[in-house]
Amino acid sequence: MEVIVEARSIAKKFGDVVAVRDVSFTVARGEVFCLVGPNGAGKTTTFRIVAGLIRPDKGFVSVLGEDPYAMDPRVRRKITYLPEDAGVYRNLTGLEYLEVVAGVYASSREESRRFLERGIQLSGLGEELRRRAGGYSRGMKRRLALAAALMVEPELAILDEPTAGLDVSHSLAVRNTIKSYVRESGSSALVSSHNMLEVEYLCDRVAIISRGVIVAEGAPGELKDEYGASNLEEVYIKIVGGGA
Ligand code: ATP
Repeated sequence: MEVIVEARSIAKKFGDVVAVRDVSFTVARGEVFCLVGPNGAGKTTTFRIVAGLIRPDKGFVSVLGEDPYAMDPRVRRKITYLPEDAGVYRNLTGLEYLEVVAGVYASSREESRRFLERGIQLSGLGEELRRRAGGYSRGMKRRLALAAALMVEPELAILDEPTAGLDVSHSLAVRNTIKSYVRESGSSALVSSHNMLEVEYLCDRVAIISRGVIVAEGAPGELKDEYGASNLEEVYIKIVGGGA
């Protein structure tokens, strides 16, 4: 098993707020690893640490064998991060946006063309790509940002709530896109979601995080067996609690 992400006992505070208390996990090549948990549990903070945007106060993190905070730019290009609130450039058309991203990640014109072709396909936006992205609906912006994150052939895609705000059919399309991308390219994805049905379908392994600590981890089937539950939502409620 090739380890793509290793996090060992990472912790991060913002002032007095403990965002991540003690988190350890590994993501292997070829798997979709999901982090689920209540609002404020520390998922986005963990993703930002893995993406190299912030440094943990404590612990060790390695992505593709390097410290993500001090990564060689050539390695950094193999990682993409779709933030929870990814914006697109309002004044560019969807197509122009994909062109810009393809240009940044590609090392040749040929590669840039290939990335763009893929992005056009992955977005599923068709003729809408010729419109200014500022006029897109929330779901269309999400699909454009996701296409940009996957078209550049990352070895690790970090996707923070990729289907948030998408309608039922587009959520399904996005799940299928992520799953087939990882399977066909032999890459890995680190994904968060609040939709347990989605997690059950998409994720090879799941970690449940609560108050900055991972409280359960395993393949969806293993977790269901362990907690005597018929679906992941039941597992989640048993661990984290339900009802507001
Ligand atoms: P959600 O499901 O709502 O997206 P999350 O699990 O992604 O939540 P985080 O965004 O990682 O949670 O936040 C964890 C905690 O850290 C929260 O209490 C949050 O308010 C705090 N926090 C996160 N980023 C910052 C920041 N830049 N400054 C101050 N506090 C922060």
